[in-house]
Amino acid sequence: MSENNQIQSNIIFKERLLGGYKYIKCPQCNHGFETEQPKQTRMPYCNQCNKIILDLTQKFCCWCGVKFKKEERQYMIKTYEDAYNEAIERIYKAIELAFQYGQIDGSHHKMWVIDQMIRVLLNNDEASYKDYVKCACDGEDGPNTYDWDEGVAP
Ligand SMILES: [Zn+2]
Repeated sequence: MSENNQIQSNIIFKERLLGGYKYIKCPQCNHGFETEQPKQTRMPYCNQCNKIILDLTQKFCCWCGVKFKKEERQYMIKTYEDAYNEAIERIYKAIELAFQYGQIDGSHHKMWVIDQMIRVLLNNDEASYKDYVKCACDGEDGPNTYDWDEGVAP
């Protein structure tokens, strides 16, 4: 969405926190230190009353009653549909990988399948994949407690 469209629109996107704070506590003073930022998502808000839009299929804001433009609602619905369809596509690609290669003997091949499924589910995003591997290796003995095995292609 363009900047211009955001100003004119009665529907705007805002960042919304989803929780996910993680803390460690200092053993001396018991003060909690934030180690992970909360997860955020973009949600539609009414530009008139500033409250979250609960149902984009409704013509009016359920809080203040302002009427949303039909094309704005359709644009938002399409944005969500595109994200939904894209997620479904990733799931099917992961299933396809398991179906095609999951039965091949050898744990190194099965590890390869799991690694490939993770990559597909993370939309082949290198940064997300690195985060995932980092989390998988992290444990009670520090960041290299476990190994992540990328496996061997069959
Ligand atoms: Zn409103």
